[in-house]
Formats: sequence, structure tokens, C-alpha cells
Amino acid sequence: MSEDKRFEALGSDADTIVVIATSESMESPSNHYESWSEDIVFTTKGKSFRATINCSLHVYSGFEASLDAKKEITTAEYRRLAAGHEPEDVPAIRKRVKERASADAAASAAEAVRPNCPKCSKKMKVRTGNFPAFWGCSNYPKCDGTREKR
Ligand SMILES: [Zn+2]
Repeated sequence: MSEDKRFEALGSDADTIVVIATSESMESPSNHYESWSEDIVFTTKGKSFRATINCSLHVYSGFEASLDAKKEITTAEYRRLAAGHEPEDVPAIRKRVKERASADAAASAAEAVRPNCPKCSKKMKVRTGNFPAFWGCSNYPKCDGTREKR
């Protein structure tokens, strides 16, 4: 049994979901949150449908989907719309979330190694420009503390 919430939103007996378009994608990678809507075609009990579903993905609560609109179409129309599109599966979505989560873990690790300013003790930021990269105080221009970046 599929764990894809899209199947649940459509009724659990849908047997194929083909995503033909995705729109209004909204992302917040730092919080692992995404929401988007999918234009899909699917079959169930020998009938074909076209539908729009709203999806959201949050790393802590998982993948949710709800059905927005559904219209029965002919088998010929289904084949024409589905041609050239792969059905999207749950493992692909999970993999994307996992990659996001590990990118975020790497970002917080990088945050942890930021040194403190020798003058005011605030965290320092990497500064670049016409110089080799160096640490500059995050309180610049109020504080001009710097450190060499190894
Ligand atoms: Zn400082």
C-alpha cells in the first residue's frame, strides 16, 4: 500500500498518478517547508481523471495533500496528457527532504565554528571583496574587529 498522501486525497483506489505540471512552488529550505500544487492525471477503477491537488511537505510532520478539483476524462485524453511524464513517487520526495535536512545540519555546524569578535565578542561573518576572505565583526560598522581566516 502506498504511503503517498496524494492517493489518500484522491481515494485510496487510485492506481496511477502522473504529475503533468507543478505550480506556485513555495520553499523555505531553512525550515524544510515547501508547498505547491500539482496538475495530475490518474486512473481508478478503469476510469481516468484530471485533478489539481495541493501538496505540502514539512520535514517534521511529513507530506500532506488535498484534492482541489477533479474531472473525468477519456482514456485517450489520459494517454495524451500522461505521455512523456513519469509518475512521481514517495521515495523521491523523501530523498529530497533528507538532502535538505543534511544541508541544514551542515549549515548549523558551520554556524558553530564562527569565531567571536576579539573586540566586542559578537559572532563574526566571513567577508570577501577585493581581499582574501577574512572574518569581520557582525556588528560592523559599529565595531571594526577582524580575524584572519585560515
Ligand atoms: Zn566586534
